Amino acid sequence: MDNNICPACSGELSTGVKWWHFVCSHCDYEKADLQPVINEVSPHTLVNETAREAGLRDIRVGNFKKLLGVIASLKPAGGTLVDVGCAHGWFLEAAMGKFDSLGIEPDEAVFNATAARGLPVRKGYFPDVLEAGEMFDVIVFNDVIEHIPDIGEVLSECYQRLNSGGLLVLNLPSSDGVFYKVSRLFCRADKFDYFERLWQKDFPSPHVHYFNARNLSGLLAKNSFVAVKTGTLPTLGLAGLYSRISFAGNLGAISKALIYCAVAVSLPVLRLLPSDIVYVVARKA
Ligand SMILES: [Zn+2]
Repeated sequence: MDNNICPACSGELSTGVKWWHFVCSHCDYEKADLQPVINEVSPHTLVNETAREAGLRDIRVGNFKKLLGVIASLKPAGGTLVDVGCAHGWFLEAAMGKFDSLGIEPDEAVFNATAARGLPVRKGYFPDVLEAGEMFDVIVFNDVIEHIPDIGEVLSECYQRLNSGGLLVLNLPSSDGVFYKVSRLFCRADKFDYFERLWQKDFPSPHVHYFNARNLSGLLAKNSFVAVKTGTLPTLGLAGLYSRISFAGNLGAISKALIYCAVAVSLPVLRLLPSDIVYVVARKA
């Protein structure tokens, strides 16, 4: 991957609001020069994995059901599906009733827990763990594609592994989201840097890309896909909210309680603002 070139429109990237942050002035794509460090021990201590899992479960499971409804409407006959970076297998469980499903997960501890629940999962990376000629009708990336530095390479692998008429599904954080926009606006001023938190700086696997619905369509067109459906999914729900606020681990109990109350009373208004989660379903061109 060329470090200074936008993967969506091939425009030149310029420095953003941090030394590690870069932006495309042509299509608003954003990039971070943050390296993934999966399976190294020390960054894991930053994250309370139990709280993280509990906090994300309710909102993610609800969003996965909505996304599966969209996929099933475009592939009513079902078929084979692979969920790349399936984590705890929540999407896999929802997909198994409609599709012949497989999960792929590189993190050893997470893989072991998911496999122990009897779910069809392989340990490793896409497409390395696939057999020669193994093809799919649907390839899904839930909160995964934004972690992969060479996004063009992985999209090319997807193209080769999809059957004719196959669907590629990307579900990821949106740079149009209200939390992202506000965090970027205030990122230089505040003590608790929520902008760095959203990019997962110093986390086991930080984000390296931020897209929106428009430049995602450009990225897909550049890689021989046609976006057939884009949409947003809710970012926050009341269930699991306190755990989510807790999982960065460096806030005091009073701060956590205050943030919880502020977010809880704001939820009805927040739901009217642009969501921080975007999805796109694309077909092979
Ligand atoms: Zn661009």
